Amino acid sequence: MFEESPNISRIMLLRYAYNSNRSMFGVVPMRKQALKVRLYPSDKQIQVLDQHFGCARWWWNYGLNQCIETYKATGKGLSQSGLNSMLPKLKKDKETEWLSECYSQVLQSVSLNLSRAYQNFFEGRAKYPRFKSYHHRQSIQYPQKVKQVNDCLKFPGKVGIVKAKIHRPLDGTIKTVTVSKCPSGKYYASVLMEYDGDNPTPTDSLHKSGNPPMQLSSTTDGKVVGIDLGIKDFAITYDGDKTSKYANPKHLYKYQKKLAVKQRIAARKEKGSNRKNKANKITARVYEQISNVRQDYLHKLSRKIVDNNQVVVVENLNVKGMVRNHKLAKAISDTSWGTFVNFLSYKLEKEGKVLVEINRWFPSSKLCSNCHYQIRDLPLEIRAWTCPSCGTHHHRDGNAAQNIRAEGIRLLALSAAEMSSSGMGEANASGEDVRPTRGRKSKMRQSSVKLEANTHPLGECG
Ligand SMILES: [Zn+2]
Repeated sequence: MFEESPNISRIMLLRYAYNSNRSMFGVVPMRKQALKVRLYPSDKQIQVLDQHFGCARWWWNYGLNQCIETYKATGKGLSQSGLNSMLPKLKKDKETEWLSECYSQVLQSVSLNLSRAYQNFFEGRAKYPRFKSYHHRQSIQYPQKVKQVNDCLKFPGKVGIVKAKIHRPLDGTIKTVTVSKCPSGKYYASVLMEYDGDNPTPTDSLHKSGNPPMQLSSTTDGKVVGIDLGIKDFAITYDGDKTSKYANPKHLYKYQKKLAVKQRIAARKEKGSNRKNKANKITARVYEQISNVRQDYLHKLSRKIVDNNQVVVVENLNVKGMVRNHKLAKAISDTSWGTFVNFLSYKLEKEGKVLVEINRWFPSSKLCSNCHYQIRDLPLEIRAWTCPSCGTHHHRDGNAAQNIRAEGIRLLALSAAEMSSSGMGEANASGEDVRPTRGRKSKMRQSSVKLEANTHPLGECG
Protein backbone atom coordinates (compact mmCIF):
# COMPACT_ATOMS: atom_id res chain seq x y z
CA MET A 1 0.00 0.00 0.00
CA PHE A 2 2.77 2.43 0.82
CA GLU A 3 5.72 3.08 -1.43
CA GLU A 4 9.18 2.96 0.02
CA SER A 5 10.62 5.89 -1.85
CA PRO A 6 9.75 8.10 -4.81
CA ASN A 7 11.17 6.89 -8.07
CA ILE A 8 11.49 8.70 -11.33
CA SER A 9 8.14 7.66 -12.69
CA ARG A 10 6.39 8.95 -9.57
CA ILE A 11 7.93 12.37 -9.90
CA MET A 12 7.12 12.42 -13.59
CA LEU A 13 3.53 11.52 -12.78
CA LEU A 14 3.46 14.22 -10.20
CA ARG A 15 4.62 16.83 -12.66
CA TYR A 16 2.02 15.66 -15.09
CA ALA A 17 -0.67 15.94 -12.46
CA TYR A 18 0.56 19.32 -11.38
CA ASN A 19 0.64 20.76 -14.87
CA SER A 20 -2.77 19.51 -15.87
CA ASN A 21 -4.09 20.83 -12.58
CA ARG A 22 -2.81 24.27 -13.50
CA SER A 23 -4.37 24.20 -16.91
CA MET A 24 -7.72 23.48 -15.27
CA PHE A 25 -8.00 27.04 -14.14
CA GLY A 26 -7.87 28.28 -17.70
CA VAL A 27 -6.26 31.59 -16.85
CA VAL A 28 -2.67 31.77 -15.76
CA PRO A 29 -2.57 33.87 -12.57
CA MET A 30 -0.03 36.66 -12.12
CA ARG A 31 2.53 36.08 -9.43
CA LYS A 32 1.99 38.27 -6.40
CA GLN A 33 4.14 39.02 -3.44
CA ALA A 34 3.81 41.29 -0.44
CA LEU A 35 6.63 43.12 1.27
CA LYS A 36 6.27 44.75 4.64
CA VAL A 37 8.34 47.87 5.24
CA ARG A 38 8.69 50.07 8.28
CA LEU A 39 7.45 53.65 7.89
CA TYR A 40 8.82 56.70 9.66
CA PRO A 41 6.12 59.36 9.27
CA SER A 42 6.77 62.92 10.46
CA ASP A 43 4.69 64.38 13.30
CA LYS A 44 2.42 66.05 10.81
CA GLN A 45 2.04 62.86 8.79
CA ILE A 46 1.26 60.95 11.99
CA GLN A 47 -1.57 63.39 12.56
CA VAL A 48 -2.91 62.89 9.03
CA LEU A 49 -2.54 59.11 9.23
CA ASP A 50 -4.31 58.96 12.59
CA GLN A 51 -7.15 60.99 11.10
CA HIS A 52 -7.37 58.50 8.21
CA PHE A 53 -7.33 55.55 10.63
CA GLY A 54 -10.15 57.21 12.54
CA CYS A 55 -12.25 57.83 9.44
CA ALA A 56 -11.71 54.31 8.11
CA ARG A 57 -12.56 52.79 11.49
CA TRP A 58 -15.66 54.95 11.87
CA TRP A 59 -16.84 54.08 8.36
CA TRP A 60 -16.27 50.36 8.97
CA ASN A 61 -18.30 50.44 12.20
CA TYR A 62 -21.02 52.62 10.68
CA GLY A 63 -21.18 50.41 7.58
CA LEU A 64 -21.29 47.25 9.66
CA ASN A 65 -24.15 48.66 11.67
CA GLN A 66 -25.98 49.54 8.44
CA CYS A 67 -25.42 45.99 7.19
CA ILE A 68 -26.88 44.56 10.40
CA GLU A 69 -29.95 46.84 10.22
CA THR A 70 -30.48 46.10 6.54
CA TYR A 71 -30.19 42.41 7.20
CA LYS A 72 -32.75 42.59 10.01
CA ALA A 73 -35.17 44.48 7.77
CA THR A 74 -34.74 42.68 4.46
CA GLY A 75 -32.79 39.48 5.15
CA LYS A 76 -30.05 40.68 2.81
CA GLY A 77 -26.67 42.29 3.37
CA LEU A 78 -25.32 45.43 1.69
CA SER A 79 -23.16 45.29 -1.40
CA GLN A 80 -19.98 47.25 -1.92
CA SER A 81 -21.75 49.69 -4.23
CA GLY A 82 -24.62 49.93 -1.78
CA LEU A 83 -22.17 50.98 0.92
CA ASN A 84 -20.31 53.38 -1.35
CA SER A 85 -23.52 55.12 -2.35
CA MET A 86 -24.01 56.26 1.26
CA LEU A 87 -20.70 58.11 1.35
CA PRO A 88 -21.55 61.31 -0.59
CA LYS A 89 -24.46 62.10 1.73
CA LEU A 90 -22.38 61.43 4.85
CA LYS A 91 -19.65 63.74 3.59
CA LYS A 92 -22.25 66.53 3.21
CA ASP A 93 -23.97 66.02 6.56
CA LYS A 94 -22.81 68.48 9.23
CA GLU A 95 -22.10 65.77 11.80
CA THR A 96 -19.97 63.64 9.53
CA GLU A 97 -18.50 66.14 7.11
CA TRP A 98 -15.03 65.39 8.50
CA LEU A 99 -15.16 62.19 6.43
CA SER A 100 -14.29 64.28 3.37
CA GLU A 101 -10.88 64.93 4.95
CA CYS A 102 -10.05 61.29 4.28
CA TYR A 103 -8.68 60.16 0.92
CA SER A 104 -11.78 58.78 -0.81
CA GLN A 105 -10.23 55.52 -2.08
CA VAL A 106 -9.31 54.61 1.49
CA LEU A 107 -13.00 54.71 2.41
CA GLN A 108 -13.95 52.76 -0.71
CA SER A 109 -11.46 50.08 0.27
CA VAL A 110 -13.26 49.79 3.60
CA SER A 111 -16.55 49.24 1.73
CA LEU A 112 -14.90 46.54 -0.35
CA ASN A 113 -13.37 44.81 2.67
CA LEU A 114 -16.61 44.99 4.62
CA SER A 115 -18.68 43.51 1.82
CA ARG A 116 -16.04 40.78 1.42
CA ALA A 117 -16.08 40.09 5.16
CA TYR A 118 -19.85 39.69 4.94
CA GLN A 119 -19.58 37.41 1.95
CA ASN A 120 -16.95 35.30 3.68
CA PHE A 121 -19.26 34.99 6.64
CA PHE A 122 -22.28 34.01 4.53
CA GLU A 123 -20.25 31.44 2.63
CA GLY A 124 -18.94 29.90 5.85
CA ARG A 125 -15.32 30.92 5.47
CA ALA A 126 -15.09 33.36 8.35
CA LYS A 127 -16.68 34.53 11.55
CA TYR A 128 -19.13 37.39 11.63
CA PRO A 129 -17.35 40.71 10.96
CA ARG A 130 -16.55 42.59 14.15
CA PHE A 131 -16.57 46.23 15.10
CA LYS A 132 -13.14 47.82 15.13
CA SER A 133 -11.68 49.31 18.28
CA TYR A 134 -9.32 52.21 18.77
CA HIS A 135 -7.20 50.04 21.05
CA HIS A 136 -6.21 47.46 18.46
CA ARG A 137 -4.07 47.60 15.37
CA GLN A 138 -5.17 50.43 13.09
CA SER A 139 -4.97 50.14 9.33
CA ILE A 140 -5.97 51.75 6.05
CA GLN A 141 -5.67 50.56 2.49
CA TYR A 142 -4.67 52.35 -0.69
CA PRO A 143 -5.94 50.31 -3.65
CA GLN A 144 -3.61 52.09 -6.11
CA LYS A 145 -1.41 55.10 -6.84
CA VAL A 146 1.28 54.47 -4.19
CA LYS A 147 4.77 54.93 -5.63
CA GLN A 148 8.31 54.48 -4.47
CA VAL A 149 10.38 57.66 -4.43
CA ASN A 150 13.98 56.90 -3.48
CA ASP A 151 13.89 55.70 0.15
CA CYS A 152 10.30 56.77 0.60
CA LEU A 153 6.79 55.77 -0.29
CA LYS A 154 4.59 58.39 -1.93
CA PHE A 155 0.93 58.15 -0.96
CA PRO A 156 -1.88 59.93 -2.79
CA GLY A 157 -3.88 62.55 -0.87
CA LYS A 158 -2.71 64.44 2.16
CA VAL A 159 -0.24 61.89 3.51
CA GLY A 160 2.35 62.52 0.80
CA ILE A 161 5.92 61.22 0.85
CA VAL A 162 6.75 59.10 3.91
CA LYS A 163 10.23 57.95 4.86
CA ALA A 164 10.52 54.17 4.78
CA LYS A 165 13.04 51.44 5.36
CA ILE A 166 12.90 49.51 2.09
CA HIS A 167 15.11 46.52 2.79
CA ARG A 168 14.36 44.72 -0.45
CA PRO A 169 13.76 46.18 -3.92
CA LEU A 170 10.13 46.85 -4.78
CA ASP A 171 10.64 45.30 -8.19
CA GLY A 172 7.07 44.36 -9.10
CA THR A 173 4.12 46.54 -10.03
CA ILE A 174 2.84 48.07 -6.80
CA LYS A 175 -0.82 47.25 -6.23
CA THR A 176 -2.59 47.56 -2.88
CA VAL A 177 -0.67 49.15 -0.02
CA THR A 178 -1.87 48.71 3.55
CA VAL A 179 -0.60 51.15 6.16
CA SER A 180 -0.87 49.97 9.74
CA LYS A 181 -0.05 51.17 13.21
CA CYS A 182 0.74 48.59 15.85
CA PRO A 183 -0.28 49.08 19.48
CA SER A 184 3.38 49.74 20.25
CA GLY A 185 3.17 52.85 18.07
CA LYS A 186 5.17 51.66 15.05
CA TYR A 187 4.00 52.26 11.49
CA TYR A 188 4.30 49.76 8.67
CA ALA A 189 3.30 49.51 5.02
CA SER A 190 2.50 46.17 3.48
CA VAL A 191 3.13 46.53 -0.24
CA LEU A 192 1.47 44.04 -2.57
CA MET A 193 3.33 43.65 -5.85
CA GLU A 194 2.41 41.88 -9.04
CA TYR A 195 4.91 40.31 -11.40
CA ASP A 196 4.61 39.51 -15.09
CA GLY A 197 4.47 35.83 -15.84
CA ASP A 198 3.45 32.93 -13.71
CA ASN A 199 5.36 31.01 -11.09
CA PRO A 200 7.84 28.54 -12.46
CA THR A 201 6.47 25.04 -12.92
CA PRO A 202 8.22 22.01 -11.50
CA THR A 203 9.55 21.44 -15.03
CA ASP A 204 11.01 24.95 -15.15
CA SER A 205 12.81 24.57 -11.87
CA LEU A 206 14.32 21.32 -13.07
CA HIS A 207 15.53 22.90 -16.29
CA LYS A 208 16.99 25.80 -14.39
CA SER A 209 18.99 23.46 -12.23
CA GLY A 210 20.49 22.04 -15.41
CA ASN A 211 19.14 18.54 -14.99
CA PRO A 212 17.33 16.94 -17.87
CA PRO A 213 13.92 15.88 -16.54
CA MET A 214 14.70 12.18 -16.79
CA GLN A 215 17.68 12.25 -14.43
CA LEU A 216 16.02 13.21 -11.23
CA SER A 217 17.03 10.63 -8.74
CA SER A 218 20.61 11.71 -8.22
CA THR A 219 19.85 15.27 -7.14
CA THR A 220 17.74 16.95 -4.52
CA ASP A 221 15.20 17.75 -7.23
CA GLY A 222 13.18 14.66 -6.60
CA LYS A 223 13.36 14.81 -2.81
CA VAL A 224 10.18 14.39 -0.84
CA VAL A 225 10.10 15.37 2.83
CA GLY A 226 7.43 14.60 5.42
CA ILE A 227 7.03 17.00 8.34
CA ASP A 228 5.41 16.18 11.64
CA LEU A 229 4.44 18.86 14.11
CA GLY A 230 6.11 18.03 17.38
CA ILE A 231 5.21 18.99 20.90
CA LYS A 232 8.62 18.88 22.46
CA ASP A 233 10.34 19.87 19.23
CA PHE A 234 8.77 22.25 16.77
CA ALA A 235 9.03 19.94 13.78
CA ILE A 236 10.42 16.54 12.90
CA THR A 237 11.26 15.85 9.27
CA TYR A 238 12.01 12.70 7.33
CA ASP A 239 13.36 12.96 3.79
CA GLY A 240 13.81 9.32 2.92
CA ASP A 241 17.32 9.15 4.38
CA LYS A 242 17.34 10.76 7.74
CA THR A 243 15.16 12.13 10.48
CA SER A 244 15.87 15.70 11.65
CA LYS A 245 14.51 17.48 14.66
CA TYR A 246 14.02 21.22 14.91
CA ALA A 247 13.65 22.58 18.43
CA ASN A 248 11.55 25.58 19.35
CA PRO A 249 13.62 28.76 19.52
CA LYS A 250 14.83 28.94 23.11
CA HIS A 251 14.92 32.71 23.47
CA LEU A 252 11.15 32.70 23.03
CA TYR A 253 10.86 31.67 26.68
CA LYS A 254 13.05 34.54 27.77
CA TYR A 255 10.65 36.97 26.12
CA GLN A 256 7.68 35.19 27.65
CA LYS A 257 9.05 35.75 31.12
CA LYS A 258 9.66 39.38 30.22
CA LEU A 259 6.08 39.65 28.99
CA ALA A 260 4.70 38.28 32.24
CA VAL A 261 6.69 40.86 34.22
CA LYS A 262 5.54 43.76 32.04
CA GLN A 263 1.93 42.59 32.16
CA ARG A 264 2.03 42.51 35.96
CA ILE A 265 3.41 46.04 36.02
CA ALA A 266 0.71 47.26 33.64
CA ALA A 267 -2.03 45.57 35.66
CA ARG A 268 -1.11 47.58 38.77
CA LYS A 269 -1.50 50.98 37.09
CA GLU A 270 -4.68 52.92 37.40
CA LYS A 271 -7.04 52.52 34.48
CA GLY A 272 -7.02 55.37 31.99
CA SER A 273 -3.95 57.00 33.51
CA ASN A 274 -0.90 58.08 31.54
CA ARG A 275 1.23 55.53 33.37
CA LYS A 276 -1.17 52.76 32.38
CA ASN A 277 -1.00 53.80 28.73
CA LYS A 278 2.77 53.86 28.86
CA ALA A 279 2.92 50.42 30.51
CA ASN A 280 0.51 49.04 27.91
CA LYS A 281 2.73 50.30 25.14
CA ILE A 282 5.72 48.53 26.68
CA THR A 283 3.71 45.29 26.90
CA ALA A 284 2.73 45.68 23.26
CA ARG A 285 6.38 46.04 22.30
CA VAL A 286 7.28 42.75 24.03
CA TYR A 287 4.41 41.05 22.17
CA GLU A 288 5.92 42.37 18.97
CA GLN A 289 9.36 41.06 19.91
CA ILE A 290 7.89 37.59 20.53
CA SER A 291 6.10 37.71 17.20
CA ASN A 292 9.30 38.79 15.42
CA VAL A 293 11.40 36.04 16.98
CA ARG A 294 8.81 33.48 16.02
CA GLN A 295 8.39 34.73 12.45
CA ASP A 296 12.13 34.91 11.93
CA TYR A 297 12.47 31.29 13.04
CA LEU A 298 9.59 30.10 10.86
CA HIS A 299 10.96 31.93 7.82
CA LYS A 300 14.44 30.46 8.22
CA LEU A 301 13.24 26.91 8.81
CA SER A 302 10.78 26.97 5.89
CA ARG A 303 13.50 28.40 3.62
CA LYS A 304 15.83 25.57 4.56
CA ILE A 305 13.22 22.89 3.91
CA VAL A 306 12.12 24.41 0.59
CA ASP A 307 15.72 24.73 -0.61
CA ASN A 308 16.47 21.07 0.08
CA ASN A 309 13.32 19.44 -1.26
CA GLN A 310 11.02 19.31 -4.25
CA VAL A 311 7.89 18.06 -2.49
CA VAL A 312 6.85 18.84 1.09
CA VAL A 313 4.17 16.79 2.84
CA VAL A 314 2.43 18.22 5.92
CA GLU A 315 -0.59 17.36 7.99
CA ASN A 316 -3.60 19.60 7.61
CA LEU A 317 -4.10 20.25 11.32
CA ASN A 318 -7.09 21.93 12.79
CA VAL A 319 -5.04 24.43 14.74
CA LYS A 320 -8.10 26.18 16.14
CA GLY A 321 -9.45 22.94 17.49
CA MET A 322 -6.14 22.10 19.09
CA VAL A 323 -5.70 25.41 20.85
CA ARG A 324 -8.84 24.65 22.79
CA ASN A 325 -7.04 21.72 24.36
CA HIS A 326 -5.53 23.32 27.46
CA LYS A 327 -2.50 21.11 27.79
CA LEU A 328 -1.42 21.80 24.26
CA ALA A 329 -2.59 25.39 24.02
CA LYS A 330 0.70 27.04 24.78
CA ALA A 331 2.73 24.67 22.68
CA ILE A 332 0.51 25.08 19.65
CA SER A 333 0.16 28.83 19.75
CA ASP A 334 3.88 29.23 20.33
CA THR A 335 4.81 27.10 17.46
CA SER A 336 2.31 28.59 15.02
CA TRP A 337 1.97 25.64 12.75
CA GLY A 338 -0.53 27.42 10.51
CA THR A 339 1.86 30.30 9.82
CA PHE A 340 4.62 27.84 9.14
CA VAL A 341 2.59 25.93 6.55
CA ASN A 342 1.66 29.24 4.90
CA PHE A 343 5.32 30.18 4.68
CA LEU A 344 6.14 26.79 3.18
CA SER A 345 3.25 27.11 0.77
CA TYR A 346 4.22 30.43 -0.78
CA LYS A 347 7.93 29.65 -0.87
CA LEU A 348 7.27 26.34 -2.63
CA GLU A 349 4.83 27.93 -5.03
CA LYS A 350 7.33 30.59 -5.98
CA GLU A 351 9.83 27.95 -7.03
CA GLY A 352 7.36 25.70 -8.77
CA LYS A 353 7.64 23.09 -6.05
CA VAL A 354 4.79 21.19 -4.47
CA LEU A 355 3.05 21.17 -1.10
CA VAL A 356 0.92 18.17 -0.23
CA GLU A 357 -1.46 18.50 2.69
CA ILE A 358 -2.68 15.19 4.03
CA ASN A 359 -5.82 14.74 6.06
CA ARG A 360 -5.44 15.52 9.71
CA TRP A 361 -7.25 12.34 10.69
CA PHE A 362 -4.55 10.26 9.07
CA PRO A 363 -3.16 8.15 11.97
CA SER A 364 0.43 9.26 11.41
CA SER A 365 1.67 8.41 14.92
CA LYS A 366 -0.23 5.15 15.30
CA LEU A 367 0.99 3.42 12.16
CA CYS A 368 4.10 1.29 12.10
CA SER A 369 6.23 2.76 9.31
CA ASN A 370 7.78 -0.65 8.75
CA CYS A 371 4.81 -3.03 8.41
CA HIS A 372 1.86 -0.56 8.49
CA TYR A 373 0.31 -2.20 11.54
CA GLN A 374 -1.96 0.30 13.30
CA ILE A 375 -2.06 0.32 17.09
CA ARG A 376 -5.28 1.33 18.81
CA ASP A 377 -4.20 3.98 21.27
CA LEU A 378 -1.12 6.09 21.63
CA PRO A 379 -1.51 8.61 24.46
CA LEU A 380 0.49 11.80 24.01
CA GLU A 381 2.82 11.05 26.93
CA ILE A 382 4.11 7.86 25.32
CA ARG A 383 7.15 8.94 23.35
CA ALA A 384 8.31 5.57 22.04
CA TRP A 385 6.66 2.24 21.29
CA THR A 386 7.39 -1.19 19.87
CA CYS A 387 5.30 -2.59 17.03
CA PRO A 388 3.48 -5.73 18.26
CA SER A 389 3.43 -7.08 14.72
CA CYS A 390 7.01 -6.74 13.48
CA GLY A 391 8.84 -5.74 16.66
CA THR A 392 10.30 -2.48 15.31
CA HIS A 393 11.00 0.08 17.98
CA HIS A 394 9.67 3.51 17.05
CA HIS A 395 10.27 6.95 18.38
CA ARG A 396 6.88 8.58 18.22
CA ASP A 397 7.71 11.64 16.14
CA GLY A 398 10.22 10.19 13.70
CA ASN A 399 7.79 7.41 12.90
CA ALA A 400 4.99 9.93 12.26
CA ALA A 401 7.15 11.94 9.83
CA GLN A 402 7.92 8.73 7.91
CA ASN A 403 4.24 7.88 7.67
CA ILE A 404 3.29 11.40 6.60
CA ARG A 405 5.87 11.26 3.84
CA ALA A 406 4.66 7.87 2.64
CA GLU A 407 1.04 9.03 2.66
CA GLY A 408 1.99 12.11 0.64
CA ILE A 409 3.69 9.98 -1.98
CA ARG A 410 0.68 7.69 -2.14
CA LEU A 411 -1.66 10.64 -2.68
CA LEU A 412 0.50 12.12 -5.40
CA ALA A 413 0.55 8.81 -7.25
CA LEU A 414 -3.18 8.44 -6.77
CA SER A 415 -4.07 11.85 -8.12
CA ALA A 416 -1.65 11.41 -11.01
CA ALA A 417 -3.37 8.15 -11.86
CA GLU A 418 -6.79 9.81 -11.63
CA MET A 419 -5.62 12.54 -13.96
CA SER A 420 -4.30 10.17 -16.56
CA SER A 421 -7.38 7.96 -16.51
CA SER A 422 -9.74 10.91 -16.93
CA GLY A 423 -7.71 12.41 -19.77
CA MET A 424 -5.32 15.29 -19.59
CA GLY A 425 -6.93 18.57 -18.64
CA GLU A 426 -10.39 17.34 -19.45
CA ALA A 427 -11.18 16.47 -15.88
CA ASN A 428 -12.64 19.90 -15.39
CA ALA A 429 -15.09 19.68 -18.26
CA SER A 430 -17.87 18.99 -15.80
CA GLY A 431 -16.73 21.97 -13.76
CA GLU A 432 -16.72 20.02 -10.53
CA ASP A 433 -14.35 20.59 -7.67
CA VAL A 434 -11.93 22.54 -9.75
CA ARG A 435 -11.48 25.50 -7.52
CA PRO A 436 -10.01 25.12 -4.06
CA THR A 437 -12.99 26.35 -2.11
CA ARG A 438 -11.42 27.85 0.95
CA GLY A 439 -8.35 28.84 2.85
CA ARG A 440 -4.83 28.55 1.60
CA LYS A 441 -4.24 27.42 -1.94
CA SER A 442 -2.46 24.15 -2.03
CA LYS A 443 -1.29 22.18 -4.97
CA MET A 444 -2.68 18.91 -3.78
CA ARG A 445 -5.53 18.06 -1.53
CA GLN A 446 -7.19 14.83 -0.80
CA SER A 447 -10.27 14.64 -2.93
CA SER A 448 -11.82 11.55 -1.41
CA VAL A 449 -12.12 12.88 2.11
CA LYS A 450 -14.08 15.95 2.96
CA LEU A 451 -12.03 18.28 5.08
CA GLU A 452 -13.29 19.91 8.23
CA ALA A 453 -14.90 23.31 7.71
CA ASN A 454 -12.80 25.44 10.02
CA THR A 455 -9.19 24.85 9.14
CA HIS A 456 -7.91 28.38 9.01
CA PRO A 457 -4.29 28.94 9.84
CA LEU A 458 -3.68 31.02 12.95
CA GLY A 459 -4.02 34.70 12.25
CA GLU A 460 -0.96 36.84 12.89
CA CYS A 461 -0.73 40.50 13.69
CA GLY A 462 2.39 42.51 13.13
ZN1 LIG B 1 5.46 -3.10 12.51
